[in-house]
Amino acid sequence: MAATIALPWSCRCGAVHGTLRVERGAGTPAICHCESCVRAQRHFGVEATRAEGVALFQTTPDRFSIVEGTAHLGLGRLTPKGSYRWFTTCCNTQLGVSSTTPKFAFFSPVQTIFADPSPLGRARTHAYVPQPGGPDKHIRLMPAIIALMARSASALTSGRWRDTPFFDVETGQPVVPPVVLPKDAGHA
Ligand SMILES: [Zn+2]
Ligand SMILES: [Zn+2]
Repeated sequence: MAATIALPWSCRCGAVHGTLRVERGAGTPAICHCESCVRAQRHFGVEATRAEGVALFQTTPDRFSIVEGTAHLGLGRLTPKGSYRWFTTCCNTQLGVSSTTPKFAFFSPVQTIFADPSPLGRARTHAYVPQPGGPDKHIRLMPAIIALMARSASALTSGRWRDTPFFDVETGQPVVPPVVLPKDAGHA
């Protein structure tokens, strides 16, 4: 990928849309098979299974632009201390997962919001792959974590962490208050 591209994304109804700035090194495509990611997708109306997992793109929030529809941003979490799961209140589309503080510059859009996610590249990282009769297995997770930490550190030192659609960087608070999703969210 030579040049920078503005990859369009949208909620299902189109009221909220924008672009993700993608170039070489912008992020890591990854499939998360964890229960939370699968439940969140299901809760927001996208079929998902632990075997298939949920395709994400680990990147930093400054790359994620909301062109229209900020007023429809919603914020949920599966547990009172869970990750922030951003969604749209117009049509209940999950947009992605972020950290709970802007200084940890981390955002992973779910790839289902992109009409064409192919420029994000093919995922070689798989997290929490369920194993019959044993603990979950990770595939190439460590390089993804190292890249994530490096991107976040670079955003912190460069000041790019302040460029986020999700937080008021002066107060550190999210732009909308988080709500805890129903206990049975995403359960079959
Ligand atoms: Zn919508
Ligand atoms: Zn997950």
